Amino acid sequence: MKKIPYIPESYLYQKENYFQIWFSPTENKDNILFLSGIIEDALSGVETLLNYSLNRNSHVCLYATNAEAIQATKRNFNSSMLLAPFSSQTDSLIICQSENPKFQSRDNNFKRHLVHEIAHAFLYELSGSEKILGDNNIQMNIPAWFNEGFAECVSNKIMGNKFKTKSFDIDFGRDALNDHLNDINSPKRPAAFDYATGIVESFIIRNGHEYVFKNFSHFTNMDIGVYIHVYNA
Ligand SMILES: [Zn+2]
Repeated sequence: MKKIPYIPESYLYQKENYFQIWFSPTENKDNILFLSGIIEDALSGVETLLNYSLNRNSHVCLYATNAEAIQATKRNFNSSMLLAPFSSQTDSLIICQSENPKFQSRDNNFKRHLVHEIAHAFLYELSGSEKILGDNNIQMNIPAWFNEGFAECVSNKIMGNKFKTKSFDIDFGRDALNDHLNDINSPKRPAAFDYATGIVESFIIRNGHEYVFKNFSHFTNMDIGVYIHVYNA
């Protein structure tokens, strides 16, 4: 099998229906069982909502410790971070951590976050995008605002959460919006995230999840400034 980046050499895997789950030889069996249950459930929820099945081989890596996650990705983040750091024409990867407090407590917000990352994997595949951390998204065929906004709208729908509309008076232009979303240290990232979600949600209210997904380029080519204006009216 081809090597998937960010998976430590010593990790083992087990194959579920769709996902290949990678874990440390020291990992607690209950944790693997829990992850395999919710990830298959989350995936089938997204498949049904978008009426689309993934073709790329789907992998999920459960790091045993935050230190291992940092070492494997060469990125500094805390234990609650989940990411979809890699997608090629054949394989895609989601990473999560056993030390995540929400994973430990079996909190529904962990599944919510997992659904969000799965939604990214769907968009990467449909748009023919490839992704690897730190390449400045040069092979991404979808802008960050649509990618993040859409992933949020999918997880809101699957988890039965209403989007908490906040003030959209912030006047992010398209480029600034993408810049704040691509910079995980930007203080304006949370506001940019909500703003992007609001825009995509306004598309979904009118057209539904599946239509917006399958016709993503129609929406990503829109002048979002004008659209937000209509949405606020
Ligand atoms: Zn995301």
